[in-house]
Amino acid sequence: NARDSERYAETKSTCCYCGVGCGVIIESDGERITGVRGDPDHPANFGRLCTKGATLHLSATPATLALRAAHPELRESKAAPRSRRSWDAALDHAAARFAATIREHGPDSVAFYVSGQLLTEDYYVFNKLAKGLIGTNNIDTNSRLCMSSAVTGYKMTLGADAPPCAYDDIAQADCLFIAGSNTAWAHPVLFRRIEDAKKANPELKIIVVDPRRTDTAEAADLFLPILPGSDIALYNAMLHVMLWEGLVDNAYIAAHTEGFEALKAIVRDYTPAFAADLCGVPAEDIVKAAQWFGAAGAATLSLYCQGLNQSSHGSHNNAALIHLHLATGKIGKPGCGPFSLTGQPNAMGGREAGGMATLLPGHRELANPEHRAEIAELWGVDSVPEAPGLSAVELFDAVHAGKIKALWIACTNPAQSLPEADKVREALARCDFVVVQEAYADTDTAEFADLLLPASSWGEKEGTVTNSERRISRVLAASAAPGEARADWDIAADFSRRLGIALGRAQQAAAMFPYVRSEQIFIDHAETTRGRDLDITGLSYARLENQGPQQWPCPTGAASGRTRLYVDGVFPTPSGRARFVAVKHQPTAEAIDARYPLRLTTGRLRDQWHGMSRTGTVARLYSHEPEPVLELNAKDMERRQLKDGDLVRAKSRRGGIALRVRASDTLRTGQVFLPMHWGRRFMDSAGANALTIAAFDPYSKQPELKHAAIQVEKLSVP
Ligand code: SF4
Repeated sequence: NARDSERYAETKSTCCYCGVGCGVIIESDGERITGVRGDPDHPANFGRLCTKGATLHLSATPATLALRAAHPELRESKAAPRSRRSWDAALDHAAARFAATIREHGPDSVAFYVSGQLLTEDYYVFNKLAKGLIGTNNIDTNSRLCMSSAVTGYKMTLGADAPPCAYDDIAQADCLFIAGSNTAWAHPVLFRRIEDAKKANPELKIIVVDPRRTDTAEAADLFLPILPGSDIALYNAMLHVMLWEGLVDNAYIAAHTEGFEALKAIVRDYTPAFAADLCGVPAEDIVKAAQWFGAAGAATLSLYCQGLNQSSHGSHNNAALIHLHLATGKIGKPGCGPFSLTGQPNAMGGREAGGMATLLPGHRELANPEHRAEIAELWGVDSVPEAPGLSAVELFDAVHAGKIKALWIACTNPAQSLPEADKVREALARCDFVVVQEAYADTDTAEFADLLLPASSWGEKEGTVTNSERRISRVLAASAAPGEARADWDIAADFSRRLGIALGRAQQAAAMFPYVRSEQIFIDHAETTRGRDLDITGLSYARLENQGPQQWPCPTGAASGRTRLYVDGVFPTPSGRARFVAVKHQPTAEAIDARYPLRLTTGRLRDQWHGMSRTGTVARLYSHEPEPVLELNAKDMERRQLKDGDLVRAKSRRGGIALRVRASDTLRTGQVFLPMHWGRRFMDSAGANALTIAAFDPYSKQPELKHAAIQVEKLSVP
């Protein structure tokens, strides 16, 4: 076109919403972002964008930028309002408060709560600050809420946190088993690939497992509307059928796995009829699902997400599904494998950088003394503390109990997004010193900030992210951040150096955090992966820009990243064999009863993202769903004499929320659905998480956000 290239610039970057990780081309006039389109060369999306990605530029208009946090703000006491400060004054104050707390109460009296929205470089610096400089493992992330059960599921069975598949496998599959994932709404561009695959191969079998008849379920050849929490029963029963019908690959099991006999003894009892009762689906559909999944010679790919993960037994849900691939040998081959989809844009990068309470960089384990020693050496510190840090729910419980006295929250909104949100608000109100590092000034959490630090956001910062298929993409800036906002890694590194001074360790901190460009951090991060399963020492910013996004591993000398893992049937376990885990059905943490007779499921809508900090500023994105609505089956509406649009009070043992209802044929009786996006910015409660329960999986510590027992009562409007 006739655009003046001097006035209009184009910058290749990555969408900041979901884990599909679509490439975008940002158009700008030199000062501000004017448009966005899909990057035709990016292997995640080949030019496609969903409604959220295609409207990214509308979140960077002058009107929406005016909603952003622009200057550091501090309040001297809880009762005082915050007022503007310089960066120097703000960060020196924070350093003094953190140093005083550490001196008086020890390193574990402070904590960091970060985010899968952060770039890998941001994660790296925060992790080094907490575990390296301060000496506390109290750093966790909102990714705990979305993928930690996928991590433990992979580790339990395959030995490493590494999704073995690639998006290209969708087109090569004969059977797609989509479980606990409304891909059509939560990963829309990936769903387009599923639709393409079905068009190209009408014989492709699509099985969808979900308590709700979602848009994804509408595309299914076989839909299994299981009851929440019954995943293990379903997968064990499918394995039972596979054994009975000779669909298991005995040669693969013998050569590449261990522990099958113990699991076999368990699944003997999981007849289709037994599982049908637990799952609430017909036995013949369980048999059919097993036959399609296990068909000899067929390539089967599983795609799964929060439905499995957000459960008090999420790790075992994941393991039970992975078993089906191991038992049939459908892994490490084109179109095959257990493929966990990440919710957030950089949940994967956070895992790589070890930005969780029990992890260390480069897929190292905090519990492993050799791993701790390796990282201490790379970071130039004497040691990394041994005691595991607190995971998300535990961390805010410790804040509530007064054990954590200084808390730093970056790029996330726990007052809305954690379960039992009202308790989290109490915790934040009680905490001596809360720092909130945020792009947006009006989140439910920012309200509790003693110190608010403005962070730059999408289109304004540089670094890398990793999507669901292990593909690392560059994120590039196309405009300056509003006001005095700074990159997250830059704020964290600056604070680290000042904290070093306040702790009397100025030289050490200066040596640990010399960063003035994000690329320096990427180089340090890559070095932590050398020789590890995710080795990316062959990657650099220049290579990612010149050759395009790459999947890990991509070690020094590799011609490109690796598409598929475990092709040789060797797994990163001590024996080299994948493991079957003896898993059994477990009930949800909270049973329904006469007082709380309805099963609440929470989830995403197509056009909103998380707590709507960004999507809530884009008017066009409300056309799909303008307000939060509780969906019930028509029979449950009738029983309560409700009609569409009536106001109700939904109540659990934790709290209540007032909102409108609507009948939905996507739900069976006894089931209700509430989107997760609306919080106090839009209503008089924390939204869905006023109701949810904080019970969590013992291995992954991921809370059960997909199920709570609630009651619904009509509100009389005067
Ligand atoms: Fe962005 Fe995900 Fe949509 Fe792609 S599918 S444009 S990554 S929100």
